[in-house]
Amino acid sequence: MERQGNIKISSENMMPIIKKWLYSEKDIFLREIVANASDAITKLKKLVDMGEAKEEGAYRITVTTDSKAGTVTVEDNGIGMTEEEVEKYITQIAFSGAADFLEKYEKAGGIIGHFGLGFYSAYMVSDDIEIFTKSYREDAPAVHWESDGEATYTIGDCEKPTRGTKVVMHLAKEEKEFLKESEIRNLLAKYCSFMPYEIYLNPKEDSKPVNTVSPLYLKSPKECTEEEYKNFYRDTFADFNEPLFWIHLNMDYPFRLKGILYFPKVRKQVELERGQVKLYCNQVFVADNIKEVIPEFLLLLNGIIDCPDIPLNVSRSFLQNDRQVQKIAAHIVKKVADKLCALYRDDRERYERCWDDLKNFVKFGCIKDDNFYKKVKDIIIYKNLAGEYRPLESFFGEEVPEEEAKEGKEPQTTYYVSDENKQAQYVQLFKDAGLDAIVCDNYVDPHFISYVEYKNPTRVRFMRIDSDVAGALKEEGEEDKELAELFKGVLEGKCAEVRAERLKDVTVPAIVNVAEFSRRMAEMNSFYQMGEMPQQITLVVNAANETVQSLKTAGEEEKKAAAEYIWYLALMSYRALTPEELKAFTETGMRFIGKYLKNA
Ligand code: ADP
Repeated sequence: MERQGNIKISSENMMPIIKKWLYSEKDIFLREIVANASDAITKLKKLVDMGEAKEEGAYRITVTTDSKAGTVTVEDNGIGMTEEEVEKYITQIAFSGAADFLEKYEKAGGIIGHFGLGFYSAYMVSDDIEIFTKSYREDAPAVHWESDGEATYTIGDCEKPTRGTKVVMHLAKEEKEFLKESEIRNLLAKYCSFMPYEIYLNPKEDSKPVNTVSPLYLKSPKECTEEEYKNFYRDTFADFNEPLFWIHLNMDYPFRLKGILYFPKVRKQVELERGQVKLYCNQVFVADNIKEVIPEFLLLLNGIIDCPDIPLNVSRSFLQNDRQVQKIAAHIVKKVADKLCALYRDDRERYERCWDDLKNFVKFGCIKDDNFYKKVKDIIIYKNLAGEYRPLESFFGEEVPEEEAKEGKEPQTTYYVSDENKQAQYVQLFKDAGLDAIVCDNYVDPHFISYVEYKNPTRVRFMRIDSDVAGALKEEGEEDKELAELFKGVLEGKCAEVRAERLKDVTVPAIVNVAEFSRRMAEMNSFYQMGEMPQQITLVVNAANETVQSLKTAGEEEKKAAAEYIWYLALMSYRALTPEELKAFTETGMRFIGKYLKNA
């Protein structure tokens, strides 16, 4: 006998709201229904373990699509429900649970992975749902329940010989895509890959389950082989490049956290944004790249994190401020730092080999997270002019005592090169003078070195190799004022300042400098697209160069032409000449050649 009942809470209004809000993620219905099936099996297993229910064959979940009938069915051989339980858990709890969810959702302005909507979510895609269920209690008859999710439902006995629950979803007309086996297969792969009981899709005799019931990340790290880690990586992230290395997270106390984080090979900037960290809760997929839980810079990695202790049916902003979540995030960061430090300590050669793939991640991580910087600052390495890696801190000078720092004493300068080809002339000068510099040729470097300066105000000040040549390379002694004035007169308006110093290398006539500060400002402007800023160029004339000295005694016209020519020569090794500059440079050069040939 079937009975009819009214659904107590006003569910008429729920459907349109749910459909509107959750539309983009309506495919979670399958996760919710399959997760319920999985929970039902877990509950039965517990009873079996306690001797309160009989063991009957292998636990499994079967998903079937029937395009003729227009249904998707999820069946389990779990605990099942009695009639009272269906009334209570489905008609009351599931429906009021959905109402709760909606209320929270509205307040929270979004919940991660739409977790917690439960059974009711199946109405996002169904016009009508039937449940056939038989409780593990031996005397309980099987129950049939049916509702369109609006105001009424029917409930009554039915024929069902086996224990467990079968949920039959009659799909709405516009949701027929979910009748395709391939579509359901994709959804199972996305949400249910690691669920703990075998899931079969439209099974035939020799079908294999679509999921892995004990994924590698749940195993103890001691039991996992390198091959297994690599296979798991390839299967989970569809990346056929081998990962560089990985970190297996495995803890139970003070919170439960399991997972594997992989460092992928990334050389290009574009690839950096392609990390994927999948968040799971008890082997059920929640969502990708949840930056409220996983520190943003770690999202450059590929990984799985399963953390049942994260409250998922709260707002994202709540999560961000939740102490427990912060602790979890801090733990993950610590593990990553530990792993890097261990690699540096134990296998320096491999660390250096991997560094090109790691450095963006590490530097970006430091900028984003002071604690991470504290942990890894000793293992950040840079190449010097000889191409050897050395720890960044080894390039720092002595610490400036606090007192002197207060009086304005600056720390010793650490020079850097941002482009070894473009700055080749400066590099050569530095090398000849026995000076060293670090190579900062990466797009994170400008931001990173500013960060390092800010963190170590009394220990380091960075300057690009072309920003203070006079400071680095001049010999002791007074400036040659006469020479400086001579050039100033000729180059009026072309450069901001002229200095004439005796440089160690006498062959160089002059060299251009752009003050570090002014160049950084200009770079920042163009980075934030605030327009180009003119650069403040200083010409350093080499008073130790004989030809330059002889300008002093040359005729007016020659003096002017030669000074200009030297200016262009110096400018050229700093940047490319503009078409006008190049024209002037060529004309003057040709004039010189003409004169030289006539006199020859
Ligand atoms: P939740 O799973 O979050 O409790 P749901 O709305 O998904 O909320 O389900 C409500 C309740 O219905 C579950 O707690 C469970 O008691 C019962 N239930 C749902 N699906 C099944 C099933 N396949 N087998 C047995 N009980 C189920």
